[in-house]
Parts: sequence; structure tokens; C-alpha cells
Amino acid sequence: MPKVKTNRVKYPEGWELIEPTLRELQGKMREAENDPHDGKRKCETLWPIFKIAHQKSRYIFDLYHRRREISKELFEFCLDQGYADRNIIAKWKKPGYERLCCLRCIQPRDHNFQTTCVCRVPKHLREEKVIECVHCGCKGCASGD
Ligand SMILES: [Zn+2]
Ligand SMILES: [Zn+2]
Repeated sequence: MPKVKTNRVKYPEGWELIEPTLRELQGKMREAENDPHDGKRKCETLWPIFKIAHQKSRYIFDLYHRRREISKELFEFCLDQGYADRNIIAKWKKPGYERLCCLRCIQPRDHNFQTTCVCRVPKHLREEKVIECVHCGCKGCASGD
């Protein structure tokens, strides 16, 4: 007797168009998570994971909000299934946060001296020319940069 799948996910229309990209990014994510960490600072091992999570959310965000190539249903589906981060997408819609790298970089309690991460400071206001924030390795994500 065939097994009955009880929790079968129903994929909205258009899913097959975005599935390959999402699968590829999921695969990269798994690779990054399993990557041997020797020789790297602890925070650095998380950077590739942040980067891929960012890419996934950005992909879904662009498809829905900019290119309008996917339906709201599919967009919501991706958020519900964890393919994209609802919270960071909500930020990207706000002026000044269009390029935000990750949510940690705007959490005041995560920064010792300032209220925001160095990567959120526009280039012309920074003293250092080349930066890498400790949270996600971001090299600058202020809107005007
Ligand atoms: Zn940043
Ligand atoms: Zn960040």
C-alpha cells in the first residue's frame, strides 16, 4: 500500500520557476554550515551563512516587489516556508534600509559604542575606507553608498 503523505506542501503557481534558484541557494547554505571552521574567527564562519540568507531573501524580494514576476500567494508561501526572511524584507521597503545586510547590524544592543553597525554608516562619513562588520562581514550597506 502506498504511504499517505499527511503534510504535503501545496506549491503555488510559479513555484517551478523559482525552485531551481532557491534549491541552489539552500545547497550553498548547507555547504557553508558544514564548512570546517579551522583558522577562522568564530564570527567569520557565520558570514557566508548570513550572505546566502541575504541572497535568498533578496531574490524573493526583487521578484515580488521590484520585478513583479511572482504572485502575492507565492511570495507569502516563500516567507511561510522560510525561503526568505519576512523581517528583513519589511526593512528593505523603508527608506534608508534598502540595502540593509542583516537585522543584527541595526540592533543597538549588539554594538559596544555606537547605536548602529559601522557598515550602516555612509561611506563619506566613515574614517576607515575599507570595513568589514563583525556580524555578517558586510562591507557597507548604507543607502547612498
Ligand atoms: Zn551592513
Ligand atoms: Zn549585517
